[in-house]
Amino acid sequence: MSPTETEEHQALRAAVAALGQRYGRDYLARLAREGGHPDELWADAAKLGYLGVNLPEEYGGGGGGIAELSIVLEELGAAGCPLLMMVVSPAICGTVIARFGTEAQKRAWLPGLADGSRTMAFGITEPDAGSNSHRITTTARRDGDAWVLTGRKVFISGVDIADATLIVGRTEDARTGRLKPCLFIVPRETPGFSRSVIDMELQAAEKQFELVLDEVRLPAEALVGDEDAGLLQLFAGLNPERIMTAAFAIGMGRYALAKAVDYARTRQVWNEPIGAHQAVAHPLAAAHIELELARLMMQKAARLYDAGDDMGAGEAANMAKYAAGEACVRAVDQAVHTLGGNGLTREYGLASLITAARVARIAPVSREMILNFVSHQTLGLPKSY
Ligand SMILES: Cc1cc2nc3c(=O)[nH]c(=O)nc-3n(C[C@H](O)[C@H](O)[C@H](O)COP(=O)(O)OP(=O)(O)OC[C@H]3O[C@@H](n4cnc5c(N)ncnc54)[C@H](O)[C@@H]3O)c2cc1C
Repeated sequence: MSPTETEEHQALRAAVAALGQRYGRDYLARLAREGGHPDELWADAAKLGYLGVNLPEEYGGGGGGIAELSIVLEELGAAGCPLLMMVVSPAICGTVIARFGTEAQKRAWLPGLADGSRTMAFGITEPDAGSNSHRITTTARRDGDAWVLTGRKVFISGVDIADATLIVGRTEDARTGRLKPCLFIVPRETPGFSRSVIDMELQAAEKQFELVLDEVRLPAEALVGDEDAGLLQLFAGLNPERIMTAAFAIGMGRYALAKAVDYARTRQVWNEPIGAHQAVAHPLAAAHIELELARLMMQKAARLYDAGDDMGAGEAANMAKYAAGEACVRAVDQAVHTLGGNGLTREYGLASLITAARVARIAPVSREMILNFVSHQTLGLPKSY
């Protein structure tokens, strides 16, 4: 019995790991090379109830929480085949719609997000706002019963394969005149909603896009939840995003570490396998410890979130994302080094993870912005910006 996970959680881990083993890293690497998408793995994971494990049962989900969803992503990652869109579709969009959507939005989206037949992307980042999401300027104005959205987004993942994108925009507060965040479901083919792919140095099936919203006309029902509670709703989705990014990073770190350990056990250039040299073994042991510690923080964040403590979960989710991102970058770096020249060959497949691991340090919120958050919110230090 694990002190941090129930027997059900452990059984889920084992079952997802078995699914991941059937696909593995070669599957995703081939798709990335050929410009394909992991549709078979997505469909299999959905059929087994893994994609919607966090969504309410009455809408076709598993009735679990982010604790379970993060186990799914971590184990797929540890097998070398993480599904990036899980961070966005069931975790952010599914959560926001389940918690704040209208009955019609829940019926329209949740069963499809749960059974994998529909996918939703999430767009908050803007070229001129970056880490400072208070500066986003995508604006929604009312026109009769409709909404009209205008603005630009950047680095939005999976817009080409998603049926819709949950766009964070702003509406004008009638009382104060200030802009407040609001969430809109924008179907992919809506007139005025255009995308161009960004040429990333990432070996991944999921692409990132720059979006232009040019007078995008949406029906009143496109607004998710309450126009006056946008910030609260947004944070409800951002905490799962951080927890899932931690799961993504821990999974990738575990994958790289396992490859390195395997190699260090057998590779022999003097009398003993290289893993017998402490200069090789200790950094691998340290990477393992850091990944385990990051997972503890991720489990804490997931537990707080699933218990309804959004504030407590916010701090823990940020710390978990930070710890996991750093642990992942270090584990991948050490894994590549452990393989010597082979670490840089395509055959061993580790070098491309150097770029992929950096994503967890930058997105969805950078290392520095988390350190800022902890400095100000947790430690009470003054702000410089
Ligand atoms: C692969 C990938 C997928 C992504 N997918 C999505 C997605 O699906 N949806 C979405 O909305 N976004 C997505 N993003 C965007 C991501 O969330 C942003 O890249 C991230 O928030 C950082 O914003 P920026 O790139 O504009 O960097 P900037 O904000 O320009 O920051 C640049 C650097 O300056 C530092 N910095 C900035 N301000 C401060 C400060 N006050 N103090 C200290 N340091 C500071 C940052 O830490 C960073 O190192 C994705 C990004 C990547 C790389």
